[in-house]
Amino acid sequence: MVDLKGKDILRADQFSRDEVTLIMETARRFEKALKEGRRLDNMQGLILATLFFEPSTRTRLSFETAMLRLGGQVITVAEPKSSSAAKGESLHDTIKTVEGYADVIVLRHPKIGAAEEAAAATERPIINAGDGAGQHPTQSLLDVYTILKEKGTIDGLTIALVGDLKYGRTVHSLAELLTLYDVRLVLVSPEALRMPGEIVAKLKEKGIPVEETEDLEAALRKSDVLYMTRIQKERFDDLAEYERLKGSYVLTRSMLDGAKEGITIMHPLPRVDEIATDVDTYQGAAYFRQAANGVPVRMAILALVTGRA
Ligand code: ASP
Repeated sequence: MVDLKGKDILRADQFSRDEVTLIMETARRFEKALKEGRRLDNMQGLILATLFFEPSTRTRLSFETAMLRLGGQVITVAEPKSSSAAKGESLHDTIKTVEGYADVIVLRHPKIGAAEEAAAATERPIINAGDGAGQHPTQSLLDVYTILKEKGTIDGLTIALVGDLKYGRTVHSLAELLTLYDVRLVLVSPEALRMPGEIVAKLKEKGIPVEETEDLEAALRKSDVLYMTRIQKERFDDLAEYERLKGSYVLTRSMLDGAKEGITIMHPLPRVDEIATDVDTYQGAAYFRQAANGVPVRMAILALVTGRA
């Protein structure tokens, strides 16, 4: 029996396929309950702390919505300058403090590995909501949920990950999570923003056919899902390098004429200019539906790690 009670959610490669299936089934159950207008009280009496030391719209608000929809309560640090981290407090001490206030902690932090560091400091479940250019496991769970909803299956699909594959934590986690399925991956990026070698090696080790290319149009012709990403400006030391790379890929409506029939377009958002707004009305443009899926998936995660599913 798979059970996530008491577990931390730190990286995409921690999951077995059975665990992902449990999260998907739980999310589906909660989504159905929400659609039927049922009031849920699974998390009654529990408090979630959301600690965001980097900007966020969707991740923080969907976690907080998820907790409120389950009848729980929320405390939050959404503005890094408003917490004692700005006075020089260590992450360890912040977490030791917050464990006295909350039952489960969602953390976003600019440093790779911050979630692991937090998890070592407390027995409370820590959920990684993005650690710098590292991982974003709950995003990849909602991405998998979205692909399942849009396509009905993941096995057999060709999935293209496009844009900033070097610094993009969403694509690091998604590529790793997809190794649990029978997929082909097309990695589309400028030479300077290729997927880190260790991740590509891991994908190949797991038997996933991987193609690395700079050619977006060719990827469009063969992919069932195209996952666009933003060039991660905040990770560049050299802004001139960002300026050189920022317009590398812009998906326009007319480019979709050459796309594989029925293609699904995803993006973790926020978009800057990588998807023209006239793509939004394209039937396969799933990115706002994807953002909405964050609520049931994060309801499932919160309920499962606290044993309240
Ligand atoms: N919102 C996503 C993240 O936090 C994607 C992005 O910022 O580009 O990683």
